[in-house]
Amino acid sequence: MAFSVPPLPYAYDALAPYVDETTMHLHHDKHHQAYVDKLNGAVAGTPLESKSAEAIVADLASVPEAIAKVVRNNGGGHVNHSFFWETMTAPGGDGTTLTGPLASEIDSAFGSFDEFKTTFETAGVNQFGSGWVWLVLDGGKLAVTSTPNQDSPLTQGQVPLLGNDVWEHAYYLTYQNRRPEYLKAWWNIVNWGVVGQRFTRAGA
Ligand code: MN
Repeated sequence: MAFSVPPLPYAYDALAPYVDETTMHLHHDKHHQAYVDKLNGAVAGTPLESKSAEAIVADLASVPEAIAKVVRNNGGGHVNHSFFWETMTAPGGDGTTLTGPLASEIDSAFGSFDEFKTTFETAGVNQFGSGWVWLVLDGGKLAVTSTPNQDSPLTQGQVPLLGNDVWEHAYYLTYQNRRPEYLKAWWNIVNWGVVGQRFTRAGA
């Protein structure tokens, strides 16, 4: 099989109480696995098997029409979730404080760190139905965006730095319909160390 679900970089209960252990098992072991299985089924026997999932998602225009939709949804699902697991860490652990070049860039782009968080939460609340909310580099500039379903900023030529999953499967067991509460709680488990490294690697 071409693609596989990466193991979590922490224990299933590490993100509690902000994300519960059962949600992590279902989300990682079942939802993410399903995206990978469907992606593998679609690309089997095609040249896409030898590309990275990120490269496929960044160039959906080159995917054959017959498998375009399944690759967009499930390739995006694989890339977004692999990215998402790495974006989080145990509350109070290493990386939960943002320092360095990205911190000052966020201040200058959004006014303050708090204003950035409010902008991000609002975009997450306003994403109608299932989707994602992102901090991206777009043409070298920081921007908050959202995407429907499993669409990735990579398809738009943007560089994702941070993304939160606002599908109900990400939060419903703990937060039920209270997406705003989930978005606010999620800041406690963001791995800013990883996000800052992505920013540095992007060389903006
Ligand atoms: Mn998800």
